[in-house]
Amino acid sequence: QDKLEELKKAVKSYPDFPKPGIIFWDLFSILSNPSASTLLKEILIDTAKTICPPVEVVVGLDARGFLLGPLISLELNIPFVPIRKKGKLPGKVQSYKYELEYGEATVEIQEESIKAGQIVLVVDDLLATGGTLGAACELVKKLGGTVSKCLVVMELPALNGRKKIPADVISLMEF
Ligand code: IMP
Repeated sequence: QDKLEELKKAVKSYPDFPKPGIIFWDLFSILSNPSASTLLKEILIDTAKTICPPVEVVVGLDARGFLLGPLISLELNIPFVPIRKKGKLPGKVQSYKYELEYGEATVEIQEESIKAGQIVLVVDDLLATGGTLGAACELVKKLGGTVSKCLVVMELPALNGRKKIPADVISLMEF
């Protein structure tokens, strides 16, 4: 708990970014601080190791999930798999379209990246409305994987994003 309080102090927020009225919570303010980054890495790994049954694949979301996921997958010696915005991944992919506040977005995953029945941990920096993590869970399901947990560094609980996620969500801190 002390570690989390210390980590929370390292997070910078930017009012009115990217649009007026929005507060942006910046993962990079942790990553630019070596002691906070080390703390974050330890907490992510400890959290992932306690998940039962053991995680077999780590899925990271475009783009900051790509910085967090491999910290866990390397330590657990399991595969890291990216979910990317449409058109970025080569080979056969599965797609999922979801609603944004304004318009829609499509995310993709490589078809052979997860085997049926595998236990998956989905990782991202922040849970807001839940659209992105929810879409990630749908893609994992399309490949026959089971999302055991979603792990985010930050959560904005006022937006009720958890309700949209068909899996348990672990967040390290709330804003
Ligand atoms: P959601 O789909 O509304 O839950 O938004 C979560 C996605 O948007 C994640 O992939 C985040 O990286 C990004 N995001 C939304 N708000 C913020 C923020 O304040 N800081 C960093 N990323 C954010």
